[in-house]
Amino acid sequence: MNKEVVIVGGGPAGMLMGLLLAQEKVNVAVLEKNKDLSRDFRGETIAPGSVYLLKKLGVFPALEKHGFIKVRKIKMYDREEKLFSVNFDELDHPQKFGIDMPQPVVLEALKEKALTYPNFSYIEGATCTDLIKDGEKVVGVRYKESEQEFELRSKLVIGAEGRYSRLQTLGNFQVQKKEFDRDLIWFKVPKPIDWEEGNLIKVYKNDHVIILPTYPDYLRVGTYISLGGNREIKQKGISSFIDKVCTIEPRLRKPMNETIKSWEDTTLLKIFTAHLDNWANDGLILIGDSAHTMSPILGQGVNIAMQDAFKLLPYVTNGLKEHSGALPADLFTDFIEKRKKQVSFVASFQSRQEQNLAASSPFQCTIRKVKMKLLDKAPFKNKVMRRLQYGIVENETMEV
Ligand SMILES: Cc1cc2nc3c(=O)[nH]c(=O)nc-3n(C[C@H](O)[C@H](O)[C@H](O)COP(=O)(O)OP(=O)(O)OC[C@H]3O[C@@H](n4cnc5c(N)ncnc54)[C@H](O)[C@@H]3O)c2cc1C
Repeated sequence: MNKEVVIVGGGPAGMLMGLLLAQEKVNVAVLEKNKDLSRDFRGETIAPGSVYLLKKLGVFPALEKHGFIKVRKIKMYDREEKLFSVNFDELDHPQKFGIDMPQPVVLEALKEKALTYPNFSYIEGATCTDLIKDGEKVVGVRYKESEQEFELRSKLVIGAEGRYSRLQTLGNFQVQKKEFDRDLIWFKVPKPIDWEEGNLIKVYKNDHVIILPTYPDYLRVGTYISLGGNREIKQKGISSFIDKVCTIEPRLRKPMNETIKSWEDTTLLKIFTAHLDNWANDGLILIGDSAHTMSPILGQGVNIAMQDAFKLLPYVTNGLKEHSGALPADLFTDFIEKRKKQVSFVASFQSRQEQNLAASSPFQCTIRKVKMKLLDKAPFKNKVMRRLQYGIVENETMEV
């Protein structure tokens, strides 16, 4: 079977890319290793920039039908003292809120829309196992579906298979991987009735929690522990973990006592970032987490993955018109350069926030307080936030 483009991975980057190409009448297939789109604790917050694009694509009514939580604010407090806040209403953009909703609903809506185009196919339960090559050029993929091997030939393979990308290895890409010196523990609790709107970061001394209101009526809560500290913290028992969190945010005591009965009710996450030096070979390009796995700070992974797809679209459609065989890697040089700038802008902002959260001595905690209060008052605050939340680089629009 032949396609013009094969996309490996039906996450936010791959599914959106599939829809965009389908709309451009490109003969495209998305391969997804899972048989359904259910995921938990992944990318539930979609930044306002991506919401804007989903609206433009006509996908938003399906999301409204399901329901979501509007995210209009991000706040940081040292216990009860406000350090920093951003209100999306004050940012210079027509889209004033992000949304929080289960990622499968968003993926399903993208898939359903794409399936209305006869040139789009979605192959579920299909794990890409290898690249087909003609010399050095990638000319398709091999995949397994129900224990059977298949081949799909194409002019371009787009790798969008997330943080554990196989195509990174198969394409011999150089990866700069950074393991964090802390692990993250996540859990979900029912949202207290009088809980305020917005994503909240609370710090206290050398500890902190991240609290995200989550659809329909939950809070997703994350807190760091020292690397390898999992065994130590588990030995102390779940009640001591509840104490640790509630010392920072006492309002979590009741919902945690009612819901977090054992470590089974929490999830431990290894945090790492990974950045590729190069994202493309002849006939192959990687986008989303496959090309750049971000820190979870400020929930930007989905936003950047979706922006990658939007920005890549014209390069692919023009390339398909100009080339009869595998699309050459240099077609994507400009795209990669521009996207790397945005990725590195977000990554360095995240890294500074990581350092702030990692403050351990009283002196570092005081510096954090001063820095965040200064940032809160800085004249460039909204400009920085606009670039983060909408992915808008100077003189650029995100029009579809
Ligand atoms: C705990 C946690 C919380 C997060 N919260 C947020 C948040 O609130 N907001 C936010 O913006 N980001 C968040 N992120 C990051 C976000 O989830 C990712 O950045 C985003 O999902 C990346 O999208 P993607 O399409 O590149 O990859 P993925 O979403 O990882 O999708 C990759 C897809 O490829 C499929 N696949 C993998 N290998 C193969 C193969 N060989 N063959 C076929 N298919 C394959 C996978 O099954 C998957 O469906 C979070 C991440 C973590 C870990």
